[in-house]
Amino acid sequence: MKAKFKSACISCGQLIKPGKEISKNNEGSWVHKHCVEDPDLP
Ligand SMILES: [Zn+2]
Repeated sequence: MKAKFKSACISCGQLIKPGKEISKNNEGSWVHKHCVEDPDLP
């Protein structure tokens, strides 16, 4: 989904701007969509 509010991504520490695609991580916190998708998966 798209962010509605400005917040901070706890995964990468960068700002999440409104309109950015975000996702919940396995702890239930909102992070960037690309931050929750683990690129190291086999
Ligand atoms: Zn992030």
